[in-house]
Amino acid sequence: MVVKTAEFVCSNTQVNKLPAPNLPEYAFIGRSNVGKSSLINALTGRKGLAKTSQKPGKTQLINHFIINKEWYLVDLPGYGYAQTSKKNRADWEKFIRKYLTTRENLQCVFVLIDSRLEPQKIDLDFCCWLGENGLPFMLIFTKADKLSRVKCDQNMAKFRRALLKWFEEVPPRFLTSSEEKTGLEPILDTIADINAA
Ligand code: GDP
Repeated sequence: MVVKTAEFVCSNTQVNKLPAPNLPEYAFIGRSNVGKSSLINALTGRKGLAKTSQKPGKTQLINHFIINKEWYLVDLPGYGYAQTSKKNRADWEKFIRKYLTTRENLQCVFVLIDSRLEPQKIDLDFCCWLGENGLPFMLIFTKADKLSRVKCDQNMAKFRRALLKWFEEVPPRFLTSSEEKTGLEPILDTIADINAA
């Protein structure tokens, strides 16, 4: 898929104020600092579309972007701030869980994983929760330029093995670098395929 247009639609703090669910929608989520904003900007070819390096504690927003006037790309607030309070975490969970479990046009959740790290409990728990709720998801490993391909493959394999404790099959995985603009096309093509199905 070629991204011809990518426009900001709205930011929301409430699930009941989201745009009408009249287009297919794809959500991007991951630990804070995983590289989500950079990935959204790289995928859309628009440098400043998603704001990079947002500070913890900022208002938690669901950001909608419309791509090619055909589908919504949704930037969800990051999870797992080390400094965040229990209250912030609980609010995040309530808000995001409500969005994910009620959004009728949501086609797939892309869970971003830092390819440099060993499998993290917070990411595995989140994937399990998606599975338990029957929400389709795929994995995007980020920052591939920061380590060797062999090491990336090892970390991806470890994550896969960890998920196999809970899942019979592991969802599709993508390895990306927003810095080097690699691994982006397969994600866009997957979205195009789902949209066409
Ligand atoms: P977010 O908090 O998940 O939205 O993460 P950001 O997109 O703001 O990225 C966090 C930090 O990681 C920033 O300093 C980015 O420049 C850096 N970063 C993000 N993606 C990549 C990547 O693919 N390669 C490298 N080397 N750095 C990246």
